[in-house]
Amino acid sequence: MSVQNEVRIVEVGPRDGLQNLSDLVSTADKIDMIQHLAACGFAEIQAGAFVSPQAIPQFQDMSAVMEGVKNIRRATLTALVPNIQGVRDALRCGLKKINFFFSVSRSHNINNVRQTPDASLTALEGILSEIRPDSSLAVRVDIATAFGCPFEGPVAIPTVLDYVEKLAGLGVLEMTLCDTAGLGNPRLVEALGRQCIRLFPEVTFGMHFHDTRGLGLANILRAYEAGIRCFDGAVGGLGGCPYSPGASGNVATEETVFMFEEMGISTGIDLPALLAAALKIREKLSGAIFRSALLDAGLPAPRGALK
Ligand code: ZN
Repeated sequence: MSVQNEVRIVEVGPRDGLQNLSDLVSTADKIDMIQHLAACGFAEIQAGAFVSPQAIPQFQDMSAVMEGVKNIRRATLTALVPNIQGVRDALRCGLKKINFFFSVSRSHNINNVRQTPDASLTALEGILSEIRPDSSLAVRVDIATAFGCPFEGPVAIPTVLDYVEKLAGLGVLEMTLCDTAGLGNPRLVEALGRQCIRLFPEVTFGMHFHDTRGLGLANILRAYEAGIRCFDGAVGGLGGCPYSPGASGNVATEETVFMFEEMGISTGIDLPALLAAALKIREKLSGAIFRSALLDAGLPAPRGALK
């Protein structure tokens, strides 16, 4: 019988980690990256995005990438989609789960997907009604700038809760609150997390943090204490958002896994394998910035080995 892990870590490096690289990563290197990560025990990996190649050229080869990873069974591969065209492309490539995304901040959403948040929700409604007959496609909705907007500043908790309520009304059962620009702090994270869980017990909430200002792990820990059990991470702390000035990479997945496992909280991830994968990926992506103290320091020596 398999042991239920206490937290679920979703690897988003192949998407969030690559989308703002100015150099295009080759299709072969993307396939390699996803294959290495899939061998580490993740239940879910965000493999890329079905977006307009004009908006984000990095993902213009999504069909070829998905073809190259179709042998992966254990991890559910997902992709970010902003509209119905993206959903159709994802279905065509055989995806079983999509991440629709929008921003609760008007300026950020307009910058990102050229429409207001409410227009994004209308688009989501259309998507849900189109895919409903195909119940095998799972939908997670990513709520960007939930902890602050790089253009508008603080985002009030009731604003986020309003959108969560609208999404719940559309039947969305999985949502991720995203700190797109690294503006969250532990107290805000706890307050929003607790209210979401209390008001919407039917929804599974995850959180997605960027370590822009060094608060990533502190936010994750406080979110865990508030009852959140699903976290995104990017291998090596890669990534950032091209539409969030100054936004640096996600919290490094291996640091999140290390923190939880050291605390005795199971993640199901093979940490030595993940570190080995991270080193291989860092070698291949020479133009990318990796920010991970654990990757630099390595795992501690076995207990008792240091005298
Ligand atoms: Zn992100």
